[in-house]
Amino acid sequence: MESLVTAMPGITVEQVQSCGVVGAGGGGFPTHVKLRAKAEFILLNAAECEPLLHKDKEMLRAYPDEVIMGLAEAGRLVGAQEAVIGIKHKYHDVIDLLRSKLPGGMRIAELHDSYPTGDEFVLVHDVTGRVIPPGKIPLAVGCVVINVETACNIARARPVTRKFLTVAGAVANPVTIEAAVGTTFREALGLAGGATVPDPAVLVGGVMMGRLSTDLEEPITKTTGGLIVLPRDHTLVRRYSRSWQQVSRIGASACDQCSFCTEMCPRYLLGHPIEPHKAMRSLVYSQTGESSVIGTQFCCECNLCTMISCPEDLDPKNVCAQNKRRLASEGKRWEVAADERRPALHMDNRRTPLKRLITKLGLSDFNNTGPLLPDSYKPQRVRLPLKQHAGAPAVPVVESGAQVKEGDVIARPPEGQLGAVLHASITGRVSSAKDALVIET
Ligand code: SF4
Ligand code: SF4
Repeated sequence: MESLVTAMPGITVEQVQSCGVVGAGGGGFPTHVKLRAKAEFILLNAAECEPLLHKDKEMLRAYPDEVIMGLAEAGRLVGAQEAVIGIKHKYHDVIDLLRSKLPGGMRIAELHDSYPTGDEFVLVHDVTGRVIPPGKIPLAVGCVVINVETACNIARARPVTRKFLTVAGAVANPVTIEAAVGTTFREALGLAGGATVPDPAVLVGGVMMGRLSTDLEEPITKTTGGLIVLPRDHTLVRRYSRSWQQVSRIGASACDQCSFCTEMCPRYLLGHPIEPHKAMRSLVYSQTGESSVIGTQFCCECNLCTMISCPEDLDPKNVCAQNKRRLASEGKRWEVAADERRPALHMDNRRTPLKRLITKLGLSDFNNTGPLLPDSYKPQRVRLPLKQHAGAPAVPVVESGAQVKEGDVIARPPEGQLGAVLHASITGRVSSAKDALVIET
């Protein structure tokens, strides 16, 4: 790792903070906070295991030097002894390209083509053999994990005003695009040749861990990793549209306690005390899902139990997620003592191959590619929500009517609170500065 420590030009944590860099993989955790820690490993999460998403591979193909530099810089800042790029073994061309450029102290870990390989806990386990304890973060086992785009943003050391994302599914030409933050979904779909179905629905962020949207005027934010367009009558849209009442009533009456959901749960396999079949059992006693199944707080909401494991088409993920949120709102937190932990089980024969996942989810008919468009898209108007990150919403520092240039600071986190700086993503006039900042050219 010597070369990582000495050979880089020296980006500072303050620069990362002032550029508004956040975890671009979905969580939006402010990167400068992660980089203030000290860790043995810095890991690049390039597993990208959500079906039909290709943004990370495309970025690695297009900007390998920047991603490697960003990872090395992050490694230097946290004092890492080793930097590791975790990427699926099937991407031979990307692996060869990266290998030809790796500095000393950096290596590639080839990962299984399965889901959820990109879950931080699974990634850390597969790369280092260490198990992050329940309820903890990678730092607990000496690791800091960053996303491909985050590494690129660290290396660029300029305000985060653009976002990379894949637009796929029921569109004419699935693509990966670079667009100004605040671009609408409608414009993004237009860059992919438009939807091929009338009245499309969109799974934002991915089909497994995303959310359903039917509002094409929604803006792309710093954490939007992909838009999967689907017809309204697609099974996945119907699944995401189920109300909690339907989930809990059907779950209470139809769960046969086979426990497949638990047997396949990646967190259970890591030894965490989560057993989704018990959360399902609790529905029998409490139709509202208000169980005392405290292990649900360790659910990562990967959705594997719902989408793959359950033979009855039930929704254990939502039952766990509902319990998890209730426990959090009640301030209940279970600290699992070291002597209470189970060892991790052998996972290899319980991994879910991505190909099987795509078939099971009814996505096989869609073109599974997403080449990066050469030009960055800049719209005439952007809408920038004040909360595009973990922590407190940013507070505007400009008023309606102000003229701003791309890259100008337009909102900051409240003093002393976790958050990220927000910059103008286009040059123009601020036409609204309430819940979101709207800029028009
Ligand atoms: S969503 Fe299901 S499979 Fe995933 S961690 Fe939660 S309980 Fe386990
Ligand atoms: S897999 Fe389905 S039916 Fe079996 S225990 Fe889990 S929720 Fe119930």
